[in-house]
Amino acid sequence: MREIVHVQGGQCGNQIGAKFWEVVCAEHGIDSTGRYQGDSELQLERINVYYNEASCGRFVPRAVLMDLEPGTMDSVRSGPYGQIFRPDNFVFGQSGAGNNWAKGHYTEGAELIDSVLDVVRKESENCDCLQGFQVCHSLGGGTGSGMGTLLISKIREEYPDRTMLTFSVFPSPKVSDTVVEPYNATLSVHQLVENADECMVLDNEALYDICFRTLKLTTPSFGDLNHLISATMSGVTCCLRFPGQLNSDLRKLAVNLIPFPRLHFFMVGFSPLTSRGSQQYRTLTVPELTQQMWDAKNMMCAADPRHGRYLTASAVFRGKMSTKEVDEQMINVQNKNSSYFVEWIPNNVKSTVCDIPPSGLKMASTFIGNSTSIQEMFRRVSEQFTAMFRRKAFLHWYTGEGMDEMEFTEAESNMNDLVSEYQQYQDATAEDEEYEEYEEYEEEA
Ligand code: GDP
Repeated sequence: MREIVHVQGGQCGNQIGAKFWEVVCAEHGIDSTGRYQGDSELQLERINVYYNEASCGRFVPRAVLMDLEPGTMDSVRSGPYGQIFRPDNFVFGQSGAGNNWAKGHYTEGAELIDSVLDVVRKESENCDCLQGFQVCHSLGGGTGSGMGTLLISKIREEYPDRTMLTFSVFPSPKVSDTVVEPYNATLSVHQLVENADECMVLDNEALYDICFRTLKLTTPSFGDLNHLISATMSGVTCCLRFPGQLNSDLRKLAVNLIPFPRLHFFMVGFSPLTSRGSQQYRTLTVPELTQQMWDAKNMMCAADPRHGRYLTASAVFRGKMSTKEVDEQMINVQNKNSSYFVEWIPNNVKSTVCDIPPSGLKMASTFIGNSTSIQEMFRRVSEQFTAMFRRKAFLHWYTGEGMDEMEFTEAESNMNDLVSEYQQYQDATAEDEEYEEYEEYEEEA
């Protein structure tokens, strides 16, 4: 058994976390009271990764819910699967974070963090062989962002050898009206670079564009965005939840995808894209799934893979299909687009087939890519950050909570460094090194 402890924090984190559990429960045949009602052995084979089995035979999500105000967690509790969670695992305050990262990280959040850690510790101690943690949060607000990254750093301190995966929602002015989000996001990225092992990037800018352009929703709501997020989270965790070889635990996922430790921010693609409540009107073929999955329009991150190169990538196809055809299609994509894959990591694309499709679909595929083009998203946030920081606008909200301006400067440069590192590997070619060796040889001679 290799268990994962799940934590969801803040408004966004709790909303997407609740959806994640709805989808995962449906896929594993667990009803809203925690009883198994499924029809396949495969649903239970690795159920312990995400669920504890209570003595009465019920399955209880190994989930911790935290927030600095009670509202969102109240609605999770009264939602469709609200009764499945362990009541002691709801940890909340009353103060709120007012979209202020400093309140989440240093003041209000810091006061509540020990109660959250107590619950996390309890869940961890109950595990047979804990593999790691996953945290769902947004980066643009105060709680998920500030307190979420505080929790991540505390967990890292206490469990340095366990893997930390995050599902991090990046802010976009297209769906939000809080001006300080680039501050909160940049301060968070600074933390995630150092303290998380792998981050699945869920970019509200891209999610909005998919809803608007592809799904033709004229005024996308968070519910619409979260539908895409939960489908993606289900796809990304599929290999962890069902039997199989590829990326079957968090460490293997990291080994396959992360050639350099700081570059652990992944672009995720999903196909077929569907809107809430709609059904796929026809089954897609493997070539169609493959083509869509690699398409920039299907990426949950507003960055175009054709503006960069893939360091590594992994794909999971779900449903009944021929493994041979999947392998052929994947090779085909790589051969036709070889310049978009760094040639100095041979065999950097892996794929697998999982027999169990997501609920409501016959077939689907999910793609996880480590692409240097993700720098486009970091650049976008960085530009928004710098525009305000240059004039020290809104800084008093943060210094008022005891923060030093220096932390802003450091966060800004850490993110800029990250962008440069992506660029450096984007430009690197296999010949560089040979060339350098040659130069050294010349000098010696
Ligand atoms: P917190 O409660 O202090 O963590 O703050 P929020 O989670 O509300 O953070 C605000 C950021 O999250 C903004 O960028 C919002 O656009 C985004 N956000 C809030 N709720 C949701 C949601 O349900 N789905 C998505 N995709 N984004 C959300």
